[in-house]
Amino acid sequence: MYGVNPSKTPVKVRLATTSLAGCFGCHMSLLDIDERLLELAEIAEFDRTPLTDIKHCSRCDIALIEGGVCNAENIQVLREMRANAKILVAVGACAINGGLPAMRNSLAIGDVLHKVYGDPEREGTGVPNDPELPLPLDKVYPINEVVRVDYFLPGCPPSGDAIWKYLTALILGHMPRLEPMAMNYD
Ligand code: SF4
Repeated sequence: MYGVNPSKTPVKVRLATTSLAGCFGCHMSLLDIDERLLELAEIAEFDRTPLTDIKHCSRCDIALIEGGVCNAENIQVLREMRANAKILVAVGACAINGGLPAMRNSLAIGDVLHKVYGDPEREGTGVPNDPELPLPLDKVYPINEVVRVDYFLPGCPPSGDAIWKYLTALILGHMPRLEPMAMNYD
């Protein structure tokens, strides 16, 4: 079995999504499935996702992950979703290879922070050090370097059609496939 087959599932398929180091473009594409959201709502319900504002992931069937891993909180969220999801999908270039945020990987994190936040010697400037802020990692990592990933959905962002096709294949228990022409890089 490659996915979740709703005919074998007495309750709705439970979906979770999150954005780690991403731009929310992949989530915008999910909303681009437009009126098919109503169709999705017939067979699925949402767990943790920016759409529901649920803060923690509970047991779910499919987790869609946007964005790479750039800080300690990303690791925590990703591990929680992996522990709870039967199927975990890396959605978009950032989740798959770090994407645009990984452009900082050739620079030292300290240099990046000082460049962004200013000279620590100057009053009113300097790197924020509030304990509430998640610690940045030395690099931005693809999610498969932190957890096991079951499927990779490429694109930046993947189109709404591609997400719909992929998601419905998984829900129906089929192997998700994407023709090269369906891959989108804006
Ligand atoms: Fe944004 Fe592209 Fe990354 Fe998706 S893959 S989060 S659209 S930059």
